[in-house]
Amino acid sequence: MKYISTRRKDETVSSAQAIAQGISREGGLFVPEALPKLSLAEIQEMAHMRYQDRACRILSLFLSDFSPEEIRACVEGAYGEESVPTDKFGGNPAPVAKLCPDTYMLELWHGPTCAFKDMALQLLPRLMAAAVSKVMPGKKVCILTATSGDTGKAALEGFRDVPGTQIMVFYPQHGVSEMQKLQMTSQEGKNLSVCAVEGNFDDAQTGVKRLFTDPALRERLAEKGMVFSSANSINWGRLVPQIVYYFSVYCDLLADGEIALGELINITVPTGNFGNILAAYYAKEMGLPIHRLICASNRNNVLSDFIQTGIYNKKRPFHATSSPSMDILVSSNLERLLFALSGGDDSLTADLMDRLAREGEYQIPAEMKKKLDQCFSAVWCDDAQAAQEIGRLFESFSYLCDPHTAVASFACRKYREETGDLTKNVVVSTASPYKFPSSVLSAAAGKREEASSAEEEFTLAQRLEQLSGVPQPQPLLQLRKMPARFAGCCSKEDMEQAVSAFLGL
Ligand SMILES: *Cc1c(COP(=O)(O)O)cnc(C)c1O
Repeated sequence: MKYISTRRKDETVSSAQAIAQGISREGGLFVPEALPKLSLAEIQEMAHMRYQDRACRILSLFLSDFSPEEIRACVEGAYGEESVPTDKFGGNPAPVAKLCPDTYMLELWHGPTCAFKDMALQLLPRLMAAAVSKVMPGKKVCILTATSGDTGKAALEGFRDVPGTQIMVFYPQHGVSEMQKLQMTSQEGKNLSVCAVEGNFDDAQTGVKRLFTDPALRERLAEKGMVFSSANSINWGRLVPQIVYYFSVYCDLLADGEIALGELINITVPTGNFGNILAAYYAKEMGLPIHRLICASNRNNVLSDFIQTGIYNKKRPFHATSSPSMDILVSSNLERLLFALSGGDDSLTADLMDRLAREGEYQIPAEMKKKLDQCFSAVWCDDAQAAQEIGRLFESFSYLCDPHTAVASFACRKYREETGDLTKNVVVSTASPYKFPSSVLSAAAGKREEASSAEEEFTLAQRLEQLSGVPQPQPLLQLRKMPARFAGCCSKEDMEQAVSAFLGL
């Protein structure tokens, strides 16, 4: 399997190169030259496998220059071995809960940081270490990451003390919850650093992108035997683990007798950077029986507007919402979808991305819009609607969900009402409700509760536990005892200095 850039497809690289490098030289994203296909018989075959075995099966289709033993070692390191029944994910990395007839919650937050990014970020560092030893033996990888909240902690936890790697995480100073902030600033490990940036997520992300493409900085790095790479969802090694759980949930529904082999399902994904839903799109293109993908946005509804109109326009106010990991105006992974919908037209993709950078908007050609319509629907909701949805799920089904998942649950319901499409729907649940205790408690108890410190959030989490009877996850309980290690905050302009200081350049 060879990989090409969305902005230049005449050069191919191996999967190891794509993962080690992160982003292509001209700024495009790596994608497989062609997607592998799975037959229904092959899907059926996986129905009785463990998650880990399903993962090895799917990953081996994409990572053809990794040996089966290497893939297995990475997968078991990330998701646990058979011989260790209770691992970081508590046994099953991606359990599915039946909410009511025809609606299922795919819970992707049973990992060490209680958010779905663990699914990819426990695996990526292992894939990256293996990839670097193949294509750049002896080099040290330096990871720079901008986070809107959950990525940062998950990346830190994933790379923590992985030999041959260093990681620095930037987060927007006012754009993550107190709990998320403490999760990051208290991170343990010798090879990592955390810094706040004055501004919003897009400021932090743009800053990191600028560092990646700064030739002088790259040169100083090379002199020290280091290379930059990315743990953001633009890295193919972040995306490929996400394809696995869509096959896995289908297999679980099959094994539980909830669906018949070949039956089409809908999937609703709370979307920010477009990585999670893109993985679902790839799964569909690989042969997984998916009817429609419903893109759920919060008030930063740039993606739902795009899916409805074919026009992507980032020139709009940025809103800080109760689902901060979806507070994004430039969804990096959409570039991969544009490339796919255009039939692999690299110059068109490069042109659209260029227009976005220069003019802040673009419109896709009618032919591409038609293909988009065949597969995607979009719904957005505001904070009040998301809060009502949390309350509704708690009241009707005694089910607690976090504000991101609530956006998707709302979208699933609204989509059904508007279209009459009653296909079984898998709602992707992306964070533990205990990561956002004030929002969830306010919504579930029907009374406004606010926390202005991590300490107060812990108290609210305890009250939420008493109200719901749903136990708090261990990693969040342990956080209470952790001191903050990283108090730094810098301006956008000073990010380079922060990196140089950390790496000793
Ligand atoms: C990152 C994140 C999302 C958005 O996923 P994308 O792949 O960026 O679209 C949704 N919910 C939570 C909790 C997240 O951490």
